[in-house]
Parts: sequence; C-alpha cells; structure tokens
Amino acid sequence: MLLCGLNSTNESVNHKHSARICVPVCEKDLDALRSACQRALEWADLIELRLDCLAAIPEQLPDVARPVILTLRPAEQGGHRNLTREERQRFWSSIAPQGETVWWDIEGDLAQDLAPDWSRTIVSHHDFSGVPDDLEQIYERLARTPAAVLKISVQANDIVDCIRIFNLLDRARNDGRELIAIAMGNAGIATRILGPSRGSFLTYGALDDQSATAPGQVNARKLRSLYHLDTIDDETMICGLIGLPVMHSVSPHIHNAAFVSEGVNGVYLPFEVQNAEQFFKRMVHPRTRELNWNLRGLSVTAPHKQAVMHCLDWIDADAKEIGAVNTVVIENERLLGYNTDAAGFIEPLQKRFGSLTDARVAIIGAGGAARAAIWALKRQSANVTLFARDPNRLRPLADLFEIACTSLADASFVGYDLVINATPLGSGTHINESPATREQLAGSRCVYDLIYNPVETRLLLEAKEAGCETLGGLEMLIAQAEKQFELWTGKNFSEGLSQMKTDLVRVLRENP
Ligand code: NAP
Repeated sequence: MLLCGLNSTNESVNHKHSARICVPVCEKDLDALRSACQRALEWADLIELRLDCLAAIPEQLPDVARPVILTLRPAEQGGHRNLTREERQRFWSSIAPQGETVWWDIEGDLAQDLAPDWSRTIVSHHDFSGVPDDLEQIYERLARTPAAVLKISVQANDIVDCIRIFNLLDRARNDGRELIAIAMGNAGIATRILGPSRGSFLTYGALDDQSATAPGQVNARKLRSLYHLDTIDDETMICGLIGLPVMHSVSPHIHNAAFVSEGVNGVYLPFEVQNAEQFFKRMVHPRTRELNWNLRGLSVTAPHKQAVMHCLDWIDADAKEIGAVNTVVIENERLLGYNTDAAGFIEPLQKRFGSLTDARVAIIGAGGAARAAIWALKRQSANVTLFARDPNRLRPLADLFEIACTSLADASFVGYDLVINATPLGSGTHINESPATREQLAGSRCVYDLIYNPVETRLLLEAKEAGCETLGGLEMLIAQAEKQFELWTGKNFSEGLSQMKTDLVRVLRENP
C-alpha cells in the first residue's frame, strides 16, 4: 500500500526543546501536505500526518525533516474519512514499521487486532462530547496494551473538566507510563499549555490560526513565542485571566512578555470560566481545590468582576467601594481581591493633564468600567456627569456616587473637558458604531475611549474630525495590567513599556 521508505529525520523524538510540540497537518493533496510540513518545521518537534485528510492515500509520502506520527482517524472518532473497521485494519496491517522516527497513532478499539511496533505506537481514545464518567477505566484499558505512549483526548465543556485531565497525568507519571492527555475546547486550553510541564509526552500545536485539527488547539507559534512552553516547569508561577468570552484578550501578550522581561518564571493563560464560584472552589482556593498547581494570581473580566467578590477571603477597601474586583492574589491559604481598573483608568489622564480637579467630565455607559472610572474621577475631585441609555441603570449608579446624570439620547458635549466611552460601541459586533457623533462632540476638549480593540475606534475618528484631542484604551489596559503584575510578583515592568505598547498595537492590527 503506502509508505515504502518514508524518510523522516534521523533526529530522535527528544528534540532540542524541553516540551514537545506536535504540529498536525491535514491537507487534501500531496503538494499541499509537502508545503504544510515545510511550514511546520519552524515550531514542530514532531509532525502528525493526518492521512485521513488526503483525498487518496499515496504510495509514498513526502520526506519530512522531523519525526512523524501517522494517523488515519475515522470520521466517528473525529477524523475526516468514513472508514470501516476492516479498512482501518487493512491499512495498518499493510504497512511495515518505518523505523524509530515514525510513530503510529492507532485508536484503542483497533489495538487488540494489530501487531505494530509497540515501541513506536501511540494508542489513543477520543471523545468529542465531553469527559466520560469512565475516564480512569479508559486509561486503564489503554495501559493494558504495550504501546509506548497512551493518548486520551476529551472535550472540556467547562474549565473544571481540566481537573480530571491533570490528575490523570499525575497518575500516569506515578505509573511510569507516557501519556498525552488533552481537554479539547477553549475551556481546556490550560491542559494544552501546562500539559508538558505536568508530564504529557507532547502537546499538539496548530500550523496557524486557521488550521486547528481539534477544538481549542493553540497555534504552535503561540505555544512557543507567547506562552514560552519550554520554560514552564513545576516551579512556574501560574497566572491567568478568567472571563467569558476570554480568547480574544490581549492580556496574555502583556503579562507573558513582562514575565520574560522581568526574569520571572511565570506563565499567564486564558481561563474560559462559566461559573466563577465552581472554578474558585474546585480549582483556585487552596483550602478546597482539587488540583495541586502553582496558581498565584488571576485577572478578572466580564461577567465575573462582581461574582468573584463572594469567593474571596479579603477585599481591598477601594475595590469594595468600587463594587468590583479585577485582580485576585493567592497568598498562602487566602484569596485577596483588588481593583486595578480605577488606577489604570486614571493614570493616562494624569500623565496627560496633571490635575483633574473641577474638570467637567462626561461618562457614557453605566456598567463596570463606568463604575471604576466614576470612582477614580471623584477621588480627583472632577465634576462628573453620567450618560446612559437605560434609565434603570443610569439613575441608581448616579445616585450611588452622587453625581449628575442625563439620558444619552440627543446628548451634547459642548463645554466638557473630557468625554469618556465606557460602552462596547466601537468594538466587536458594534465595530462600526459610535456612542456620539462629531456634531455632538464638537466643543469638547478630549475624548477618551476605553475600548482598545480596535486601536482607533469610530468614536475617536469622529472626535478627531470634531477637533478634539483623543486617547484610546490601550494605555489603561497596560496600566491596570502593570499594577496586577506588581501585586503578583512585587516587580513592575515600566522599563519595557514602550516596546510592549508597540508590540500590542501590532498584535491588535494583525488580529482585529
Ligand atoms: P458592561 O459592564 O457590560 O457595561 C456596558 C455599558 O454599555 C452598559 O451600561 C450598557 O448599557 C452600555 N451599552 C451597551 N450597548 C450599548 C448601546 N448600544 N448603546 C448605549 N449603551 C450601550 O461593560 P464594561 O465592563 O463596563 O466595559 C465597557 C467597555 O469598556 C468595553 O468595551 C470594554 O472593553 C472597555 N473596557 C476597557 C478596559 C481597558 O483596560 N481599556 C477595561 C475595562 C473595560 P445597558 O445596561 O443599557 O446594556
């Protein structure tokens, strides 16, 4: 059949990196496969040739300058090809072992029927619906085969599903078995990034952002250049951002760069959390968590900034007054809560204007960001007026902080020193919208949009046309992150700030 003399590299699978990344390539024809393998070389220690993606399986595959894993996944186990059991058996029986740099990934249901070179066999189990109740029994079943490596890949429907995967890796380490264990999906990303440091034989990294072969698979380049996979070990301080959604965030670009520039052994991950209370109980609080990991700190974003307040042992007085926590520090057995949004919000204004005493400020929006902004501005003795569309949110917030308020409809900002957007208008699905027109903004001095993606919003364009000064949300994002970093590490990253800002603008422009 195929693969007479597939030439894979002579390098052993123990490549130069301390964490192995396998890049799967899934292409319809040989030319595309060849070119994908070439591109994968930059980040891959191994390349998985997904034979089920090819329209026709050829006699000979291209030479690959890395160890390879051959996979022929049937559609019912997440593959791209309808294959009967007999066809799968025939395929594997027809090829000869290819030497020590060619691995076979054989699904567990076939393993008993075949006699492969077990020293180069990965025996695998996939579940795309969830984490099966009998996960441990599945591991035991796979472990009864003589395969050199076991692989279990299941779907995480919630971040707490990662617990069983990490615990399975601990078990395999104790049993002296090589295991690849992955929780697929955005909620499982921690298993892909932290897996190798907890003993996973390898982690899979996508060829690029469009080429993931399984849900939640992280781009291989990001695994190495953003998450610095090779430096993660048992001692690594783990921090992350909890929110829903969270994958769009650029905070990993800030904190991971800061860990490197400040020489701190740390990593910062996105944690997609649906239920903050469950996450804190089962994965965060040192007294109740079911996972032994070196978690040091969390950033908190929507919709959890208020919910997490019920999960903490102590909350800073400012955060209590603001009514929201965006930063958690895990200190010994206690969880401490802070709000760095307010200080991050005010810092760029103070840098630009110095004192804000008696400045006339309009805030548009009545959500969490508006709350922190009002609190910080009142501290500076600014004269704040709140504008929002929903009177049921506008009036209570204005009353709470004892400020003026008015409806957003037909607002005019003539005579204001500062107009602040604290709504999502101008980002995401509202990208072409603006909370105010150039006519409404004419006669105000400066417009500050808290949105940082895109870097230049529709509102800021309108403001420029109205002759106003402008300020985007990126400086606030960096300033609040800087204060979080200091709470977790005792260090600040002000030295690398201008480079970080340049890098973030590039990241945001490349991935709008
Ligand atoms: P939030 O709690 O959901 O509040 C959003 C506010 O915007 C609500 O008052 C909402 O009004 C209002 N709003 C939504 N759609 C609107 C529309 N079509 N017209 C008028 N008002 C509308 O969100 P948040 O956490 O305060 O965040 C607000 C913005 O600030 C987001 O874009 C976020 O990215 C940005 N932000 C930036 C930073 C930074 O570091 N740069 C930090 C925090 C937040 P309703 O109640 O009527 O829906």
